[in-house]
Amino acid sequence: MTAQPLLIALVSVQFLVHALVWAMTARMARRWREAEGHFALFWFLLAAGLMLFVPPWASGSAPRNLADLLIIAASMCEHRALALHWGRRPRLAPYALGLAAAAAVVAGSFLMDNGHGVRVAVVCFGCAVMMAASVRLMWRLGRAATPIFAPVAAAGYTLLATGLVVRGVQALLLGATTKISIDAPGHANIPFAIAVLFIGGLLNLAHIRLVLGRVLHRLGQQAQTDELTHTLNRRGLLQHLEAVHARAQAGQEGYALLMVDVDHFKAINDQHGHAEGDRVLQAVAASLRGALRADDRVGRWGGEEFCVLLPRTSLRDARALAERVGQRVAEAGHPVRVTVSIGVSEYASGDAELQSVIRRADGALYDAKAGGRNRVVAA
Ligand code: GH3
Ligand code: MG
Ligand code: MG
Repeated sequence: MTAQPLLIALVSVQFLVHALVWAMTARMARRWREAEGHFALFWFLLAAGLMLFVPPWASGSAPRNLADLLIIAASMCEHRALALHWGRRPRLAPYALGLAAAAAVVAGSFLMDNGHGVRVAVVCFGCAVMMAASVRLMWRLGRAATPIFAPVAAAGYTLLATGLVVRGVQALLLGATTKISIDAPGHANIPFAIAVLFIGGLLNLAHIRLVLGRVLHRLGQQAQTDELTHTLNRRGLLQHLEAVHARAQAGQEGYALLMVDVDHFKAINDQHGHAEGDRVLQAVAASLRGALRADDRVGRWGGEEFCVLLPRTSLRDARALAERVGQRVAEAGHPVRVTVSIGVSEYASGDAELQSVIRRADGALYDAKAGGRNRVVAA
């Protein structure tokens, strides 16, 4: 094998590795499976297309024509992968039509004088059109999600698409005699191959960063979320509490707390079963969320006890909100009667410790229980 096909084979193998990496993450991902599957297919089709330029396959025109179509199909896959990644779902028919049209032109080109030039133009224009469509996606959808990466990628793609259009026009006008195609003999393509390997490596890095970012984000959220009620867990709420307490101590703004405890919850469990008890907890969490403002936070403090953080709220307003919460829970229409007792406290300027504010809310909750339950007591 001479140097040229060896280079192409190397690039192709690298693309195959990319395909495997994406296929593996597509298997792991739940939400993005389809987009990542499309990226895997994109790399695989590119690798297969390039491999057809390498002996022993590269004999006669059939493998080369097939390779051209595979490369167009690859850029279609990439376009759909990007669209899926940003929440769109383009129909398959336009891609199939485009590919069929390209195949028809390739077949017809054998009757033309400049058939080879036409075939080169088909693959160049086909890829350029899909790249332009991808640039449009990056610009319209990607910029909001990745304000730096999307414009840089869009610029790179625009440059590449422009090069492809120039090459296509040149092939149409002059025939495909100029030796700048990837399978041209000589060493002119070594820099090209190195550039492709380099860009492939960069794309892989971007991919690793994307997947890692996603995993870390999901883990971070899981570590702060209560599995049953999907409110914050104690750790998650404590982080918000500490931040708000620090702001209050810096003299910026106060806050109030509600400690919400389900009345006679043990009896609900005993009479209706643990599963019904779980459903009641979920319904109470939903009622709490429904009553709160955007920057209020609710967390599951313990078994059937919730804590609500109300930034910039006075004891009076917190108390009124607690009354509304209690009413909402009682009127939520559970199969069993559910009420809550609520203790309310407010940050006071002497509170060095967050725990003192929590302790006052706990004390008020205790009083609400002692006073007969289904009521609100403010500390
Ligand atoms: P009170 O009105 O005084 O608050 O009485 P209570 O029965 O609500 O309080 P108690 O602390 O005696 O009982 C709480 C019960 O909550 C006991 C525990 O088995 C139950 N529990 C804790 N976590 C869960 C959970 O995740 N699911 C269910 N179904 N029950 C839970
Ligand atoms: Mg209780
Ligand atoms: Mg309790």
